[in-house]
Amino acid sequence: MRHGMSGQDRLIGRIARIVGDGGLLADADAMAPYLVDWRGAFRGRARAVVRPADTDAVAGVVALCREAGVALVPQGGNTGLVGGATPHESGGEIVVSLERMNRVRRLDAADFTMTVEAGCILADVQAAAAAVGRFFPLSLGAEGTCRIGGNIATNAGGNATLRFGNARELVLGLEVVLPDGRVWNGLSGLRKNNTGYDLKQLHIGGEGTLGIITAATLRLFPRRRQVETALVAFDSLDKAVALFSAARERLDEFLSAFELIPRIGLDMALEHVPQTQDPLAAAHPWYALVEVSSGQTAIGLADLLEGWLGEALEDGTVADGVVARSQRMAAGLWHIREACVEAQRLAGPSVKHDVSVPVSRVAAFIAEAGAAVARQAPEARVVAFGHVGDGNIHFNVCSGPGQDRARFLEAAPALTALIYDIVARHCGSFSAEHGIGRLRREPLATYLPPVARDQMAAIKAALDPGSLMNPGTIFHGAGDGRAGSGRATTGEP
Ligand SMILES: Cc1cc2nc3c(=O)[nH]c(=O)nc-3n(C[C@H](O)[C@H](O)[C@H](O)COP(=O)(O)OP(=O)(O)OC[C@H]3O[C@@H](n4cnc5c(N)ncnc54)[C@H](O)[C@@H]3O)c2cc1C
Repeated sequence: MRHGMSGQDRLIGRIARIVGDGGLLADADAMAPYLVDWRGAFRGRARAVVRPADTDAVAGVVALCREAGVALVPQGGNTGLVGGATPHESGGEIVVSLERMNRVRRLDAADFTMTVEAGCILADVQAAAAAVGRFFPLSLGAEGTCRIGGNIATNAGGNATLRFGNARELVLGLEVVLPDGRVWNGLSGLRKNNTGYDLKQLHIGGEGTLGIITAATLRLFPRRRQVETALVAFDSLDKAVALFSAARERLDEFLSAFELIPRIGLDMALEHVPQTQDPLAAAHPWYALVEVSSGQTAIGLADLLEGWLGEALEDGTVADGVVARSQRMAAGLWHIREACVEAQRLAGPSVKHDVSVPVSRVAAFIAEAGAAVARQAPEARVVAFGHVGDGNIHFNVCSGPGQDRARFLEAAPALTALIYDIVARHCGSFSAEHGIGRLRREPLATYLPPVARDQMAAIKAALDPGSLMNPGTIFHGAGDGRAGSGRATTGEP
């Protein structure tokens, strides 16, 4: 018996004609990697995974899906940590992966700009800029996998935010396919362009809820001619924060990273991640990775850093420290910082909080939140680390050795609520750089003032009235987690 072609088959057939060979994945094995997030915390299903090769193809797919009322989930490198790039379990959505759109369209060394397609891997963007003697400063642990469209859609921060800002400050223009299928070409490389609303800002950090970013014009900087790195140890967190303040004053624009590492994070890295070495002879409760860099050579940064750290050692702010003598040694120090993240993944379940507070309150926040966790979950281990120079602390609560996994995860939501309340009391944000996705919609509802929520809802309704663009991300939507799909499988690991 011959069956007629279903509406779904027809849609997929029409999409296949637009995206061509290799542009459509519909069998389970090929789709599998696109249906689970980096941590394995979110899993979903999809009608198909579509991999358009150019902007017209993206626009064609969006227009067809709009006509058919089918929702889309944009995906870059799939390294996001809040579930925004994973489709729901309902299986009704189509994932649009930008990975085939990976060309550098223009490199304007004289203008210090480059225009790249959304699917370029971040490390490749950095390399393309370096090849013409320019520097693209966005840098994060996932840079070998994440894609620039994803970085922009999440307004990624990372290790150089302190000096160069987050993605928002590095984007000059965007090309976006809107939910109605039209292409907005906003690829301007101008620094000054006050022509009404700055529309690109809606899409930066928009997490794919207002359109699909297909290309971006990025800001470049002079190539780094000097980079000096040190790891310093403190006997108290107050001293680490005090050193940061002093560093801002003394090192000014040369200071490009100031990352906090707690001893427990280093211990976990030593235990779980190969090639991690204890950098100092004795153990200390806190460390900071300090980097100074510059495109000029008139002021010697090695002398500047060593002189300044020498004074800090003498006055007792710093207990010990090491300055990298080679690029290899500097890479080893950065490895410790990155291994801190990987070690927590390997050490068992943890509850992650990507929070920020004013820098002057970092020590008080960590002390207060740490004490609250110790009271409520005495077996758990707090690993508070990260971009302290931006007031951005990854306040992670890890299960204790041998602690019952199920019980730990059961207690997680209450711990999170406790921590977010403390963040709010310290005038902070419950989501510093990872975004809202599906994981943080509840705190958004709790902490975002109604007037801000109303504006966001009005923008969403105006640009995406059918709620077909990444539904369930940032906003609750039809077929989302509340309808029983796309849940976190291990709490907030
Ligand atoms: C080891 C590790 C370290 C990390 N360190 C940091 C860090 O220091 N700082 C930081 O900010 N983040 C960090 N992250 C989180 C993550 O890497 C960033 O959020 C990154 O910007 C996501 O990019 P992606 O291409 O993987 O996006 P994806 O995970 O694919 O997508 C993320 C979100 O953006 C949307 N999206 C993706 N592409 C597009 C597009 N072209 N148009 C519209 N929407 C789109 C998706 O729908 C989703 O909502 C880290 C992650 C890992 C695994």
